[in-house]
Amino acid sequence: MWQAVGQERVVALLQRCLEKQCLAHAYLLVGPPHIGKMALALNLAQALNCASMPHPCGECNSCQKIAAGSHADVQVIGLSSGNGTEGKLRAEIGIEQIRDMQHAASLPPFEGSHRVFIIDGAESLSNEAANSLLKTLEEPEEHVLFMLLTTSEKLLPATVVSRCQKLELFPVPAPQVEAALAERWKVPPEKAKLLAALSHGCPGWAITAASDDTLLQVRAAELERLLAIIQGSTEVRFAQAAQLATLFNQNRGSLYGILDLWLDFWHDVMLVSLDCRDIIANRDQLETLTGLAEGLSPAQIKSLVRGIQNTREQLMQNANAQLALEVLMLDLPGKEKPVGGSIPAAK
Ligand SMILES: [Zn+2]
Repeated sequence: MWQAVGQERVVALLQRCLEKQCLAHAYLLVGPPHIGKMALALNLAQALNCASMPHPCGECNSCQKIAAGSHADVQVIGLSSGNGTEGKLRAEIGIEQIRDMQHAASLPPFEGSHRVFIIDGAESLSNEAANSLLKTLEEPEEHVLFMLLTTSEKLLPATVVSRCQKLELFPVPAPQVEAALAERWKVPPEKAKLLAALSHGCPGWAITAASDDTLLQVRAAELERLLAIIQGSTEVRFAQAAQLATLFNQNRGSLYGILDLWLDFWHDVMLVSLDCRDIIANRDQLETLTGLAEGLSPAQIKSLVRGIQNTREQLMQNANAQLALEVLMLDLPGKEKPVGGSIPAAK
């Protein structure tokens, strides 16, 4: 069966194309991180090479090998694949990786009926690699399927985009993610509800978080940092701004992740202040959210949410990171800088 959580429209389209044997030779799967692009691509590779019915059965030798990443005809090309990476990420998908792929694509399938090449993070193709890939996409071999996965087609050359059929993956409603976690991954009900709410419609995040506590531990640590800032002195805030600026310089994605988490948190404070508790994401933080909502007016909370959004945008536009973060720190409410009266102690 198809493993995708949600994405019924795309799955139905691919199923029809499989039945009518009219699949495109190249697909561009577009959607936010953890939405299920890789799961869908591997599923399609399984469906094409499946030895049983209905495709993809998920149980035959071919389906299992593809799921395990050991099928000779299904290859994932990305920042962490290829010789010499040894667990490190490449800066870009290079020409040598595309040349290796082109050589493999020119050979007949080894153990299945189709060779499938999945380019993960296609926005990371170097210019040279993208140009070389163009020729392959223009002159497709029979029994070869390419799938390019990306968060945004705008990050890819238009020439590459125009040679692929685009499939867009959209966020999945929280109740659907929750039901999938409970039924297919046997996650306890309350945890399934929390993970579905925190996933923002991206089932991959929730599925990973269900089996790997690290994601929730990181979230807890970053919320603690936020609450420590709210309770901290100006010196504490400036020290935190410096720490976060250093983090930004080392790994931009990590800082964006922290700001997104804070944004979620303050968005929830706003929802609680408007008496919309049922739709908050941080369901396990209701007491803290309520305490903060009681000390601030809706207008002040809205201004805080905008402040975090503005900081994120400024950082993306290469503003001075430490300065932007110091301004954000001073905008956050706290004991030394009360906003709208007393700030309750964080739980
Ligand atoms: Zn199968």
